[in-house]
Amino acid sequence: MTLPFRIGNGYDVHRLADGLELWLGGVRVEHSKGSVAHSDGDVVIHALCDALLGAAGLRDIGYHFPDADAEYKNIDSKILLGRTMSMVRKKGYELGNADIVLCLQRPKVKGYIPAMQQSLAQAMQTDAGNICVKATTTETLGFVGREEGVAAYAVALLVKASGKQA
Ligand code: MG
Repeated sequence: MTLPFRIGNGYDVHRLADGLELWLGGVRVEHSKGSVAHSDGDVVIHALCDALLGAAGLRDIGYHFPDADAEYKNIDSKILLGRTMSMVRKKGYELGNADIVLCLQRPKVKGYIPAMQQSLAQAMQTDAGNICVKATTTETLGFVGREEGVAAYAVALLVKASGKQA
């Protein structure tokens, strides 16, 4: 039996360093530190891409967009998210919903959440209501708590698009 649903999960971490830009959920967050990365280091998008790829049975973000490839140097992760959704749709699936947990000690990102949801929805060509971004600190514990890094977890549900072959 094949269900018309597919679920996937994703996880990403980037190191934080002084003087770099901090991009989260496709939005530039004002902070003294940013992600050390080959791309823009957006952990929210990278975790989400892995959840989508996993759900579609399409391996992972590093497989499709290798960080050794110059094409992806400093790339806007929203482009990677758009390409990921194209691959998902090519496989005959559409996004049901996605739920993301961003783990960051500082700064508070509460005010950025609606913009992140809008930005992700736009990149994925879906409704913002299908995407939930949540944020938490880790109570000063671990690498996130020490502000050495930022992490994100994502789950995504895909639904078989009607009339398309999977
Ligand atoms: Mg990453």
